[in-house]
Amino acid sequence: MNNRKFSAVYPGSFDPPTNGHLDIITRASRLFPNIIVAVTDNVNKRHIFTLQERIDLLKKSTENLESVEVLSFSGLLADYLEKINSFVLIRGLRALSDFEYEFQMALMNRKLNKKIETIFLTPDQSYTFLSSSMVKEIAMLGGSTRDFVPKCVELELKKRFGNR
Ligand code: ADP
Repeated sequence: MNNRKFSAVYPGSFDPPTNGHLDIITRASRLFPNIIVAVTDNVNKRHIFTLQERIDLLKKSTENLESVEVLSFSGLLADYLEKINSFVLIRGLRALSDFEYEFQMALMNRKLNKKIETIFLTPDQSYTFLSSSMVKEIAMLGGSTRDFVPKCVELELKKRFGNR
């Protein structure tokens, strides 16, 4: 494996990637020399985009950010971090409602591997209400997602749901 010492890993389902995710990736890329966006297939979640589609959409949306790499992983995140020798996790905190889950995850990951540190970034205020599930719901109900997602995601949602 490459030297990942200065990489930070931003894990998530990204189903689909939103402008909120991109805001966090951009902020993280100003703090760390390399960002690995690690896309997961969470069996407990019903995805509308396949793993490969989510990877492709993220690659397209981050093509202007040279230091960003998009990869996928399965299984325990703590094991994946050990495998790639990178121990900084990035997570986004939108509001108090995210806090409990994110706090629990951060402590559990540290329990599983004490080298792991989680860093929380907050997005621009305009993205604090934005979530992938909200975007999916809008698209499925025929609304426009233009203001919430990168262009390539908007086009893909349009193809799928025929929304405006
Ligand atoms: P997961 O299934 O891991 O929660 P998500 O793709 O929903 O995957 O989210 C990945 C990370 O991005 C999480 O830390 C989540 O809080 C954060 N996130 C999601 N939407 C936003 C947003 N609009 N602004 C900032 N962070 C966000």
